[in-house]
Amino acid sequence: APYQVVDVHELLDSTLLMLSGKIGRRITVVKEYDRTLPSIPAYPGELNQVWTNIIDNAVSAIEESGGDGTLTVRTSRDRDRLLVEFCDTGPGVPSEIRNRIFDPFFTTKPVGQGTGLGLDISWRIIANKHHGSLDVQSVPGDTRFQVRLPLTAAES
Ligand code: ADP
Ligand code: MG
Repeated sequence: APYQVVDVHELLDSTLLMLSGKIGRRITVVKEYDRTLPSIPAYPGELNQVWTNIIDNAVSAIEESGGDGTLTVRTSRDRDRLLVEFCDTGPGVPSEIRNRIFDPFFTTKPVGQGTGLGLDISWRIIANKHHGSLDVQSVPGDTRFQVRLPLTAAES
């Protein structure tokens, strides 16, 4: 899909719907959308890929901690950026690997279960294609992946 003006909430809803089978009934999904946020210029297919990668990881993390948990998807405004946060109640990202999880092929999953490419690809889509940022904040029980996207088209 080409660069176009997209409603981030519509995109999030469609990704969540697509992943509803994988998310399952033991995970509560909480949407905290700031509906007053404007649509933004973006590549919708690639943002969907980013949401999918992050949510997929959140589901795995929650499953690791017993299977019941909450995934919160929140949008807000952060100065000149739109902030999308994906919060999960899983075990968290240990601080000793915090700065490696965005590296290509870094994974803590068993062989055959993880490629270690999801966050690498997501980081590149957000930083290179959208001039945004992708960060993580994590303590056990509260992990937040934060995507910041420019509210208006970047000057080129
Ligand atoms: P993969 O999912 O194939 O392992 P990713 O690039 O998607 O590769 O993630 C890399 C690593 O980052 C994961 O193996 C895991 O250790 C860590 N990680 C990612 N998301 C989370 C999360 N929500 N909670 C805890 N750890 C996470
Ligand atoms: Mg992954």
